[in-house]
Amino acid sequence: MGGSLAHADPAADYPALILALNAEIHVEGKSGSRTIVADDFFTELFETALKDDEMITKVSFPVVGQGVGAAYEKFPHPALQSLASQRWSRWMVENELPPELA
Ligand SMILES: Cc1cc2nc3c(=O)[nH]c(=O)nc-3n(C[C@H](O)[C@H](O)[C@H](O)COP(=O)(O)OP(=O)(O)OC[C@H]3O[C@@H](n4cnc5c(N)ncnc54)[C@H](O)[C@@H]3O)c2cc1C
Repeated sequence: MGGSLAHADPAADYPALILALNAEIHVEGKSGSRTIVADDFFTELFETALKDDEMITKVSFPVVGQGVGAAYEKFPHPALQSLASQRWSRWMVENELPPELA
């Protein structure tokens, strides 16, 4: 996961999930450790807020309430050829899956 996030390919799977789930990326470098929220981590296509001497050591996700779930679906986009588009959703399950996952 660390390599995928550091590479910051906009077509990759983990970066999309990290953003959608409001994750926090924990990094360590020569000057110590810090935590970067997902919205601030990706600065440009293939660019991140990582400094040259920093490594990703951990990724954490907010705890969601009971009965809350998430789904991730990837599908090819004809205009992007080998790249993929992603769709993410969160839903309240209330004892059953949404129709597309049932
Ligand atoms: C055939 C193929 C199919 C693929 N399919 C998919 C796919 O379906 N979905 C998808 O999302 N990706 C896909 N990829 C991309 C691939 O998954 C990512 O490139 C991979 O996740 C990178 O992870 P890695 O650990 O191999 O990183 P590496 O290639 O080892 O590193 C990538 C970069 O990140 C840096 N880095 C690595 N770990 C850290 C760390 N902990 N902290 C800071 N920097 C770090 C490295 O120095 C390097 O610059 C595919 C790649 C190939 C070759």
